[in-house]
Amino acid sequence: MKKLIVANWKMNPASLKEAKGIFNEIKKVASKLKNVETVICPPFVYLSAISYQLSAIKLGAQDVFWENPATGGGAYTGEISLKMLKNFGARYVIIGHSERRENLQETDEMVNKKVKSALKGGFRVIFCIGEKKRDDESYLYFIRDEILNDLKDINRKLLKNLIIAYEPIWAIGKTGKAADSPENVFQMGIFIRKTIMHVAGEKLSRNIPILYGGSVDSKNCAGFFKEGNMQGLLIGGKSLIPKEFNKILKIANKA
Ligand code: PEP
Repeated sequence: MKKLIVANWKMNPASLKEAKGIFNEIKKVASKLKNVETVICPPFVYLSAISYQLSAIKLGAQDVFWENPATGGGAYTGEISLKMLKNFGARYVIIGHSERRENLQETDEMVNKKVKSALKGGFRVIFCIGEKKRDDESYLYFIRDEILNDLKDINRKLLKNLIIAYEPIWAIGKTGKAADSPENVFQMGIFIRKTIMHVAGEKLSRNIPILYGGSVDSKNCAGFFKEGNMQGLLIGGKSLIPKEFNKILKIANKA
């Protein structure tokens, strides 16, 4: 299975010119790698410009609205529909990122509706989970509840397009030192997969890719594949620095 490397550009960069520049630098390397699937999730406003240049790189969005009218449009101010994303060539969508849960009060119920709708719409969903703190073992209950609540009542067959991104919130957006340890990520991978069995069944849950995210850089990334046994990475900060991101892509290609 190819390693899945997802770039989450968040609310960056500030101009289309910069966005194109970063994209083109990444494309030069990504197009040569056979063992990596590279997905870039830019802000909505850059999807159109980037969609014309896709080939080796897949396009993703950072969010989507749960209502999916047949026309692709509706009275939902500020929202973006699955059909709009599809028309720009996006096939991936990040849902449930901790920054949206925290800053926009996205609830489990809202995340559940979005995941359900996006999977029904044929998207590959990068479903984000992660604990706020890890003082005691209660964080495992937190992760379990997030999975069970957010994936509630979803047709099992649809879950074949699910991707889990395990992103401990305390490890996001820091320096490399603040990333989780590959050993813990390994344990979490087992825990997450076992929990997913409750909603996806044994067979399917074995094939759902699990990505690690949180302060990944070119120095620590190899460990998440080797000792962490991750099928990919979700990368924020370093995905805006092509030199660094390309190094990660090359390491993933050999992992
Ligand atoms: C993220 O927010 O998805 C993320 C992983 O960010 P960073 O790589 O900057 O920690």
